[in-house]
Amino acid sequence: METIEHLELSSKLETIRVSALHALAYCHRLFYLEEVEELYTQDAAVFAGRRLHAELEKQEDEEWEELFLISEELGIRGRVDALRTRNGETIPYEHKRGKCHRDENKQPQAWESDKLQILAYCCLLESALGLSIKEGRIRYHADNVLVHIPFDDAGRAAVKQAIEIARQLKQSTYRPPVTDNERLCTRCSLAPVCLPEEARLAHEREWQPIRLFPEDDDRQIIHVLEPGTSVGRTGEQIKITRRNQPVEIIPARQIGQLVMHSFSQISTQALHFCREQEIGVHFISGGGRYLGSFDTRQGSIQRRIHQYTALSDANICLELARKLVICRAQGQRKFLMRGKAKAKAKERLIKATEQMKAVLKLVPQAKSLQSLLGYEGNLAALYFDALVDLISPDAPQEMLFDSRNRRPPTDRFNAMLGFGYSLLIKDVMNAILTVGLEPALGFYHQPRSQAAPLALDLMEIFRVPLVDMTVMASVNRNQWDVKADFDIRGKQVWLSETGKRKFVELYENRKQETWKHPVTGYSLTYRRLLELEVRLLEKEWMGEGGLFAQLIVR
Ligand code: SF4
Repeated sequence: METIEHLELSSKLETIRVSALHALAYCHRLFYLEEVEELYTQDAAVFAGRRLHAELEKQEDEEWEELFLISEELGIRGRVDALRTRNGETIPYEHKRGKCHRDENKQPQAWESDKLQILAYCCLLESALGLSIKEGRIRYHADNVLVHIPFDDAGRAAVKQAIEIARQLKQSTYRPPVTDNERLCTRCSLAPVCLPEEARLAHEREWQPIRLFPEDDDRQIIHVLEPGTSVGRTGEQIKITRRNQPVEIIPARQIGQLVMHSFSQISTQALHFCREQEIGVHFISGGGRYLGSFDTRQGSIQRRIHQYTALSDANICLELARKLVICRAQGQRKFLMRGKAKAKAKERLIKATEQMKAVLKLVPQAKSLQSLLGYEGNLAALYFDALVDLISPDAPQEMLFDSRNRRPPTDRFNAMLGFGYSLLIKDVMNAILTVGLEPALGFYHQPRSQAAPLALDLMEIFRVPLVDMTVMASVNRNQWDVKADFDIRGKQVWLSETGKRKFVELYENRKQETWKHPVTGYSLTYRRLLELEVRLLEKEWMGEGGLFAQLIVR
């Protein structure tokens, strides 16, 4: 026998929220992103709206009452802001923090989406409570305007039609296109994940997108480097207790990621709290190897279904992989060219850039991932053999290296590259988890090591600008103490604790630098670019492709 809770739950699942109809009236894509792809952002406007409702709830005016209603007959549910009864007539009210719409005669009107929402509440009251409703009202608090919305057959029909469209969209696997009304996007809470301007650019290369991507994230990335440190929760704050050091307490809203290095501990309470606060938690071994991330994704199953479908297609994978190899190798070549421009450029460096150019011409014709791997290996060998020539003659001899080596690194330069790539993969994972894609399903790398293939794919784009350039610049600026910053055990070389701390600072500072995206034309910090690139990848199989892997070092 079904329990009451179960019946309530199943009817809730089948009904559509009235606030979702509000989103539908605003833009079909917004409804789809929220209700089907389960993407929500908590932007300032949403918070402001919530505050308004909370303030209203506090008013002890007996005329105000919040009412939750479900109508299975109509297939909708919702919470009416307030009801007022006068002379036997009940009127639902909806409160909006913003201003009303003005018609051509400057007369106050309700916005279409607000109108549909109050009409849906009228329907809900009529159906669920059997009340006779003649009108609904919307109060716009910013300009203190009250708009009356008559409730008639036309209103009922508009609500029914919206419910029908909503049901169809919920069944659809096709994400609706961006709205033609660009002004809606500038006020849309989901613009940062919808990326409407980039979608328009994908269809029309002459389009000059405006940046609707969110402000740069200024929350801190806390690296817990010292073994034996414990991280816990105290109230709304994160508490970090290091051995022989004062306790550090940081408000959670100021933290974007917690990176646990070596054998530091984090409590279960702190982990739960980080999940609630959307703080990424990542783990890196004492040897500087990326171990994993705390995965708290929920929903977004539609996104992953699209990803599975697309990346099960060998042609799509090959096309994306070609773009990726070109992006990385062009970045490597451009970086080497900086050394080539110097008067005393070494012959090896000149030769490498020319040979890379020749191999790069072959990449677009690669017929399989296997042949692409061959070209990529070739390009990487040319790059790393010549990279040492970018080291300044004034840098300490100890910083020179022969070639790329790892597991374990055998020289200081490679020890830094290895640690840097671990930090990078951690950031790419953070971006993948934020966007809601499946890290285990890539298009180029195969599942071989602990690192997720999609993260390995995406990090290729950022290796040169975020790690190689950071390492080279620091070596040429003589920022390293060749003894104190490294631990040398036999032939193995690792960054010491002070070396890691120094590297983390250099790397995090680099991520805060801005780069003008060569295709979208607006500037973002590298930190934001990581997320943008994951979102652009997802567009590749959603019919809005062509912008992925264009970030090439100048
Ligand atoms: S950003 Fe524009 S296209 Fe995208 S959901 Fe919002 S209103 Fe619709």
